[in-house]
Amino acid sequence: MRMQAILLEAGQPLYLAQRPVPSPGPGQLLLRVQACGVCRTDLHILDGELPPPSRPLVLGHQVVGEVVALGEGVEGWRLGQWAGVPWLGWACGVCRYCRRGQENLCERALFTGYHLDGGFAEYTLAYADFAYPLPEGYAPVELAPLLCAGLIGYRSLRLAGAAQRLGLYGFGAAAHLLVQVAVYQGREVYAFTRPGDTRAQQLARALGAVWAGGSDQAPPQKLDAAILFAPVGPLVPKALQDVDKGGVVVCGGIHMSDIPSFPYALLWEERVLRSVANLTRQDGLEFLRLAGEVRLRPVVQVYPLEAAPQALEDLRAGRVEGAAVLQVC
Ligand SMILES: [Zn+2]
Ligand SMILES: [Zn+2]
Repeated sequence: MRMQAILLEAGQPLYLAQRPVPSPGPGQLLLRVQACGVCRTDLHILDGELPPPSRPLVLGHQVVGEVVALGEGVEGWRLGQWAGVPWLGWACGVCRYCRRGQENLCERALFTGYHLDGGFAEYTLAYADFAYPLPEGYAPVELAPLLCAGLIGYRSLRLAGAAQRLGLYGFGAAAHLLVQVAVYQGREVYAFTRPGDTRAQQLARALGAVWAGGSDQAPPQKLDAAILFAPVGPLVPKALQDVDKGGVVVCGGIHMSDIPSFPYALLWEERVLRSVANLTRQDGLEFLRLAGEVRLRPVVQVYPLEAAPQALEDLRAGRVEGAAVLQVC
C-alpha cells in the first residue's frame, strides 16, 4: 500500500511524495492520520536551526490518528481507537534522567517528526507507550494542537509555579490554549503580542485575558510569572522587567534568538529565569485529563495535507490565528 507524505530533504523545498505505508514494529501502532498540528519547531527544523537528519523526513509532532494496526507486544490499545502522538516519541527509561523522572531530558530520546517520521502523511507509526488516548468531545483538528502547543504550554505553566498574575509573550497556538487553562484555574492573564497585532489582542481578550497589548508595552501591574512562546531573545530582559520580586520567567520554545546582555538588577531579588525542554508522559496525561474536564476552545486554521508548505509560511509570517492544523482525512 502507498501513501502521500510531505517530505523534507536537505537543500530542497518541502515536496509531496508517494511512499510505502510503514508496518508497525514491536511496541508500535500504525495510525491513519486524521489531523496533524503545525508548530514553530517544524519551522526551526525546516530552517536548519535544529539540524535536520540526513535522510528524507516527515515533519509533524502533533498527530491525531486512528489505530489501524498493532505491532507485536502492544497492550492497552485496540483497533479503531484514536491516539495522540506528541514530540516525545520514545525515551530509553534507563538513563539517569529517565530514572529520576526527567524523561524529557533523556539522552537517547527520539522526537516525533524529527528522529521519527511524523504526521505530515496519511499514515505514521508511533510507540504505543508514548501515545495518548484522547479526550472525547473534540474534533481531530481541535485535538491536534493540544499535543504540543497545549502540552508544552501546560508544562511551562506548571514550571511557572503558583502565579496569580501571569504574562504570556507571543500569542499563538500555545498561548491561546494556555489562557483558557489559566483562566479556568482562576489566574489573571496578561497577553503580549507582536506590537500592533490587534487581531491577536482581540482574540486574547475574547478568551479571557484581563489585559492584552504589544510586547513593547509594560503591563499595568507587575506579574508573578511570565512565559515566553515567541522565539525572540530580547523579550527575556523585557519579561524580567515585567515580573515582580521572586517572579519566574519561563522560556517555552526549543529555539530562541540570542538574549542580549542585561543589568543584574533585572534578575536581582530572586527572580528566576528558566527554560522548558520537551515534555514527559506525565505532563501529557495530566493536561489531556484537564482537557477532558474543561472543554477548551482551540482556534484552528485548517489546511489540506498538500498545503503544509503554505501553513508553515503563514506561521512564519504571523498570519495564523490560534493554531495551524493539517486535516489529513
Ligand atoms: Zn511543537
Ligand atoms: Zn533515557
